[in-house]
This record gives sequence, structure tokens and C-alpha cells, in this order.
Amino acid sequence: MISIKGLYKQFGSLEVLKGIDLEVEKGKVVVVIGPSGSGKTTMLRCLNVLETPTKGVISIEGKSFDFSKPVAKSTIASFRRLTGMVFQSYNLFPHKTALENVMEGPMIVKKEHKDTARKKAQSLLNKVGLEDKMDYYPAQLSGGQQQRVGIARALAMEPEVMLFDEPTSALDPELVGEVLKVMKDLAQEGMTMIVVTHEMRFAREAADEVIFMDGGVVVERNKPEEIFTNPKEERTRKFLNMIQ
Ligand code: ADP
Repeated sequence: MISIKGLYKQFGSLEVLKGIDLEVEKGKVVVVIGPSGSGKTTMLRCLNVLETPTKGVISIEGKSFDFSKPVAKSTIASFRRLTGMVFQSYNLFPHKTALENVMEGPMIVKKEHKDTARKKAQSLLNKVGLEDKMDYYPAQLSGGQQQRVGIARALAMEPEVMLFDEPTSALDPELVGEVLKVMKDLAQEGMTMIVVTHEMRFAREAADEVIFMDGGVVVERNKPEEIFTNPKEERTRKFLNMIQ
């Protein structure tokens, strides 16, 4: 359902992605691990077209996009809607309540009626366990609560795929669990997810597959129980030894 073929991304003379090939089936959870600077965030940002790939073809749910050719802005906008992104730093609107943050995208981008958007936002905030915090502003919420608003906001756009970029890295340790719980629930409901994270427990418990990236390429991919106990590649082994 998602396929990435020959994905390259260059920043000036720095080639960050050097030919990524990846397929993710519908309903699967893929966890991406790898050293800092290996291109994990850039790959997610390319999927969400926050960065324009230098070349490569990305297909999501049958909609295919060849970045080797010039691409119209309107095409990018509609393609972006296929994926929902959750950022490390939440990126909520500070002057809007939790509810308004979740309503904003559907109303502005999808032109949903305010009442429809509100009902959906309420139900999503309920789902992430924030039914009693809907009228709070981000500054009045903990990091874990803000991130759960971030997840609800991405879900409100009804994406085909959810992309998580180190969603718990900015959180105090005691708040990590509540965010991972929401993510595990989503995974169990059959949401397709690509998750960049250092949380190896999450990878072990929730991932269908783990991808190890290094130097802008996918070095190894396997089921979590395989890659963690019996990595095939030396680079994967070294990385896992360092972090575990
Ligand atoms: P990771 O997520 O694996 O830590 P990133 O995708 O964030 O890796 O970064 C990969 C490389 O790309 C790094 O060397 C980083 O400095 C560089 N990079 C990322 N974004 C930009 C940008 N907008 N401009 C220039 N270089 C960038």
C-alpha cells in the first residue's frame, strides 16, 4: 500500500537519502531505527512532502508520485493529505485550545463544517484520553498530553498512514508510556504506521517489522524478534550493541 522506490534527497551537496526502497503493507507497523544523521527524519518528511525528494517514486494507496518530474503545488497538497505526521516537538498552535487544534485542519484544509469538525475532534480527544482537557491551551498541558493532542490532530485529517518522528524523545520519562499506549492502541486498530523511535520496547511489542537505516540507505529489515536477537549485518549489530 506504500511503496518507495529509489528515493534520493540532497541538501545542497549533501546527499542524505541514497536510494531508499521500501514497501509497507496496509495495517502494518514499521519502526525505523538507526544512528543520528542516517536520514530517518528526512525519509518521513519526504513521505509527507515536507521535503521534496530529489528523485524517486512514492506510491500511497494507489496514488503514485514521481519526483524526478516537476510537480504541481496542488498535487503536493493532495498527496500530503494521505499521511498524518506527528512531530517530536508537538507543533501545536499555542493560542488555540486542544479542541481547536484538532478542529483546525479539517475545517481549513478539508472545509468541514464546524459542527462536524467539533464532533470528530471531541471523539478523537476522547480516544487519546483527553476528554477532560479539551478546552485547555497547550501551555496548560503536560508534554505527554500535548503529544496526544498532536496524534488526535493528525488523525482528524483521516490519513491513510500515520508517520511518527521520534514522538516521545522530548518527553520526561514518566510521560513516555501514555503516548506509546495511544500508539499501540492505534496499531491494534489496524492503522498503518511508520515510526522513527529509540523506544526499543515499543519496537519489540508493536512493530511488524523493524528497518535499520544507516548512511541514507536501508541496511537491514526484519521482524523485531529477528533483528534484535539475530541481526544479519555488522552495522546493525554495532548499533544495537551501543543502544541496548
Ligand atoms: P536522522 O533523523 O536519522 O537523525 P536526519 O534525516 O534528521 O537524520 O538528517 C540526516 C542528515 O541530513 C543530517 O546530516 C542533517 O544535518 C541533514 N539535514 C537534515 N535536514 C536538513 C536541511 N533542511 N538542510 C540541510 N541539511 C539537512
